Amino acid sequence: MICQPTDCPPASEIDFEAVRARYRAERDRRIRKEANEQYIETSGEWADLYERDPYMPVAPREPIAGETDVVVLGGGFCGMMVAHGLKQAGIDDFFIVDHAGDFGGTWYWNRYPGIQCDNDAYCYMPLLEETGTMPSKKFTDGFEIQQHCRTIAETFGLYENALFHTLVRGLSWDETLNRWHVTTNRGDDIKARFVVIANGPLNKPKLPGIPGIKDFKGKLFHTARWDYEYTGGEWKAPVLDKLADKKVAVIGTGATAIQVVPHVGRHAGQLYVIQRTPSSVDLRANKPTDVEWFKSLKPGWQQDRIRNFHHAAMERLAPGEPDLIQDIWTEISRNLSAELEAEGWPDVSLEEYMRRREVMDYRVMERLRRRCEEIVEDPATAEALKPWYRFLCKRPCSNDDYYATFNRPNVELVDVAATQGVERMTEKGFVANGREYEIDCMIFASGYEVTNELHRRWAIDPVTGRNGLSIYDYWADGFKTFQGMMANGFPNLFFTGFTQAGVNATNSATFIAQGRHIGYIASEALKRGAVTVEPTKEAQDAYLAKLRSVAVDNSDFVNECTPSYFNNEGDQAHKRHIFGEPWGPGFYDFEAMLERWRDAGTLDGLELTREPVEA
Ligand code: NDP
Repeated sequence: MICQPTDCPPASEIDFEAVRARYRAERDRRIRKEANEQYIETSGEWADLYERDPYMPVAPREPIAGETDVVVLGGGFCGMMVAHGLKQAGIDDFFIVDHAGDFGGTWYWNRYPGIQCDNDAYCYMPLLEETGTMPSKKFTDGFEIQQHCRTIAETFGLYENALFHTLVRGLSWDETLNRWHVTTNRGDDIKARFVVIANGPLNKPKLPGIPGIKDFKGKLFHTARWDYEYTGGEWKAPVLDKLADKKVAVIGTGATAIQVVPHVGRHAGQLYVIQRTPSSVDLRANKPTDVEWFKSLKPGWQQDRIRNFHHAAMERLAPGEPDLIQDIWTEISRNLSAELEAEGWPDVSLEEYMRRREVMDYRVMERLRRRCEEIVEDPATAEALKPWYRFLCKRPCSNDDYYATFNRPNVELVDVAATQGVERMTEKGFVANGREYEIDCMIFASGYEVTNELHRRWAIDPVTGRNGLSIYDYWADGFKTFQGMMANGFPNLFFTGFTQAGVNATNSATFIAQGRHIGYIASEALKRGAVTVEPTKEAQDAYLAKLRSVAVDNSDFVNECTPSYFNNEGDQAHKRHIFGEPWGPGFYDFEAMLERWRDAGTLDGLELTREPVEA
């Protein structure tokens, strides 16, 4: 067990006003007026960083022009959970189309050294009970997760439906056929009754728009397409021996970089870690799975554990509810439960709970800053590595080697907060704080198109519904959905993800629930002989009104955070941040609502049309 309540400094040691002022100052110095526009899209001359598969050759095949019931766009966790939902609902005639050469999505593409899941594997890895899988440890390696995706695909017969190495280029509704035309980069024109967009939020890498980036003559790659040819080593044994005589820079200090940096630091001749905003980095304390414990788990254990994690990470633990997860994600709730238990579980209001939560948040972040100070030997480096924002402003990280890497003589932190990023790149390297650093290689751990305009993130054009209406125009002023999964004017099209829907702290639980719901609607439409199913405008408006009436306003928290994709890079005028407009009363309330809706069997709010009968 880690992070006991007593580990946190007491509130009496924290000057709350001073810390709050520091949080705001650190945010303000990082906000860039270009917000999302500061990033370069990996298309055009940078398309290779997204489109090329460095891991598997692309096998030639003939274009497909046939018909199918469903095209699921994406073979990552989300697409797989949707496919599972379709199969459960009795739909077998579908294609899963993915850009990658196998299942896994982000777990296919990301093979960088040190890749592990930062979340409890017993929650995070979907369908463990259904596939009879035991994760090897609490935080599993990337290749184990990708293998698990293959196991899911084999268990549920998904390979026969897969079209890999295929990028969807266009989706257009054909009113005469009542089918979607799905066109791809392989020349396909598939006519599908239904389409499910399940392409994930962390699909498309982005680059920082550093002046002079095109001038750099050295090696450059993104962590989502790791180049082991260049670095040496391989995914499962990342001994990066070819870097021994190289000067390498890693740009970015998010969750990816925290895992990459210790490996590059261990092998490179020289490593510069370019940091704009530090992550919080706790002890990892990863452990192999206790086989006896795992065998003792009773059927239904995974959903129970996911619910417990969700309570601790996103809601609150009930009186007496244990914290089964015991890691950094649940520390605040665990500590608060310990505090309330000591007081005999007083009946505290939500406001009082949130007030206490804020205090605990400050105490936990102070603990994390002190941890950094204890490990990093150079005081100036330690100071620069300390995170000054509230917990969950950025993704919390844990790694046992990250801070210690900065004690190596070949590793230097280059803090670029003052200039809001690297000043510029040159033929030979980069310029930061007025100094030119010569390097052989720049590794971009610079994240993904999460909050940029949808057409940029999806990279599918056109997406047109009835009367040629573009989804990008329809949603130009904000998302408009029914249950977060359908939209008026776009028959037989389903969306997945976090927008206007119930969000679980475990992504795959969100996707399983969406797969179940989509499977239900599509199969009911087929059973009822419908050719189209679409929410009415009235039902959609009513849903949005309800969604907004139960919304929880967390803008105070979000506005105080340092900019990142969590808060739309600080641009609050446009609500595009990743968890924009979730169902306020929480995931399980949303689930219960959808279950009641399905149980009623009336498809309330949806309009079904039938094929015209010829005379
Ligand atoms: P992030 O978007 O979290 O981080 C990008 C990094 O690049 C930030 O540190 C950012 O700085 C930095 N950056 C961007 N532009 C510049 C610039 N001009 N100059 C200097 N630095 C710059 O991407 P990651 O790939 O790290 O993580 C993305 C997400 O992937 C995570 O949040 C998580 O959801 C997922 N992930 C999950 C893991 C898991 O275990 N399940 C593991 C790894 C990633 P700044 O913060 O200042 O913007």
